[in-house]
Amino acid sequence: MQTSHLERIVIVGGGTAGWMTAAALSQVLKGTATRVVLIESEEIGTVGVGEATVPSIIGFNRLLELDEREFFLQTKGSIKLGIQFCDWYRPGASYIHPFGTFPDKLGYCEFQHYWLRARQQGLPYDLGDFSLNVVMAKENRFAPPTPDQRSPLSTTGYAYHFDAGLYAKYLRNYAERRGVERIEGKISQAHLDGETGFIASVELETSARISGDLFIDCSGFRGLLIEQALKTGYEDWSDLLPCNSAVAVPCESAATLTPYTRATAREAGWQWRIPLQHRIGNGYVYSDNYISDDEAVSVLMTNLDGKALADPRVIRFQSGRRKMAWNKNCIAIGLSSGFLEPLESTSIHLIQKGIIKLIQCLPRKHFPASLVNEYNREVRRDYESVRDFLVLHYKANLRDGRFWQDCRNRQISDQLTARIELFSETGRLSLHDQELFKGPSWLSVFIGQNIFPSTYDPLAEAVPLPDLMGSLNGIRSTFQDLVSKLPSHQQFLQHQIDLA
Ligand code: FAD
Repeated sequence: MQTSHLERIVIVGGGTAGWMTAAALSQVLKGTATRVVLIESEEIGTVGVGEATVPSIIGFNRLLELDEREFFLQTKGSIKLGIQFCDWYRPGASYIHPFGTFPDKLGYCEFQHYWLRARQQGLPYDLGDFSLNVVMAKENRFAPPTPDQRSPLSTTGYAYHFDAGLYAKYLRNYAERRGVERIEGKISQAHLDGETGFIASVELETSARISGDLFIDCSGFRGLLIEQALKTGYEDWSDLLPCNSAVAVPCESAATLTPYTRATAREAGWQWRIPLQHRIGNGYVYSDNYISDDEAVSVLMTNLDGKALADPRVIRFQSGRRKMAWNKNCIAIGLSSGFLEPLESTSIHLIQKGIIKLIQCLPRKHFPASLVNEYNREVRRDYESVRDFLVLHYKANLRDGRFWQDCRNRQISDQLTARIELFSETGRLSLHDQELFKGPSWLSVFIGQNIFPSTYDPLAEAVPLPDLMGSLNGIRSTFQDLVSKLPSHQQFLQHQIDLA
């Protein structure tokens, strides 16, 4: 039986990916003999963007046993109830993709079927009126979810906006306190074992060599180990996701601290707005095949809430994924493993998924192909399902302009085609439940992008129409009533910080 454990895990890179990995490993490996080393270069720095998350981040922070109040204090974080999409389907239209669920106690089918039936019979309310998250977001109010299934607050969910630099710093302190050794320095090359092709060590510009059994490549877009050393290859998805650039700039805060991210469609892409306690993060994600960098900068700078706090910075990227996230004794986590534009704020989630899978698949000193293949299969599945969800936002639009027309006409994956057909023809959502974005998310984006089904589930007719109308009216007014009594987002945060 193979019993020798990993002696040293070397993490290359100290951005969000590197320090999240170091923190999680320091937590789960405590009490074992495996040491963790992280190498980063202050001179190279980090990508410096990535401030909005999805609800799974709460589970990650729990794994680390972080105190939420302390987290808000340290990261200048705020609450994210979902994403407001403005002008996506057509100029003037807007909807919120909320993180919560829809009511589920009306009968035997999913909520949208009852809502579609009632709407056909004259119910005047939007889908969002039946999401407590949407109602809270519109009113700038917040209360955390409750496990009590009788309360509407059990249907809510939330994530965070935070300052990614401060989060990495917070996790660095956490990891170092738990024994992770940090080495400052620039890696000049990786040395491969002549026989196996595995990474034997990395060499710093000072000529110091750091050896390890397992290397985690968190070096960002450059993929220092996974690509430059191991030549793993990249699957390019720019034929599906057209944007390849972003310009980012922080600005002063606005009067109201809104508990959601905003994504506003623009001529050749879209603009993000991420409100933090101390500033607002902004960026324009675009394709440089349709507008120049100068035009993108100018659009961004004229659409800020307040004074810019830095010079705008252009970042290039290529949508896609590394052909294998795990190759030989190297696992790529973060931007080194792939990139999907931040439309649904999924990169930090994908980092977290990579880390959790690494913990679940933690090898001994050898790396069985069955384990490596399982890891790679799962990572591929995660990336493809997020990719299709993003593509949906672009595909279903009625906007003018070459960029948006091309998005409408672009070929999409067979899986996404099948999902759109299933919903359009029956109102049903996919039954696949292992995905990040589940039924309520797909439903919100389908309806928000104006994809309305031609019919609904016949089981929705099991409830007599007057009862159905009464229930839906009742739910709506209960939600309105409840939300009007909740603290504002700002009050909630202030209370948390005061208690920290
Ligand atoms: P980086 O931050 O680039 O870190 C790389 C590290 O490797 C650095 O510490 C660097 O010093 C080190 N390094 C590199 N080369 C060497 C070397 N030779 N020697 C030593 N050290 C080296 N994600 C979200 O979840 N939500 C968002 O809202 C979001 N918005 C984004 C917007 C844009 C425009 C972009 C481009 C990305 C966005 N992301 C977002 C993604 C997010 O920024 C990244 O997933 C996250 O920051 C992780 O980056 P990283 O740690 O992989 O890489």
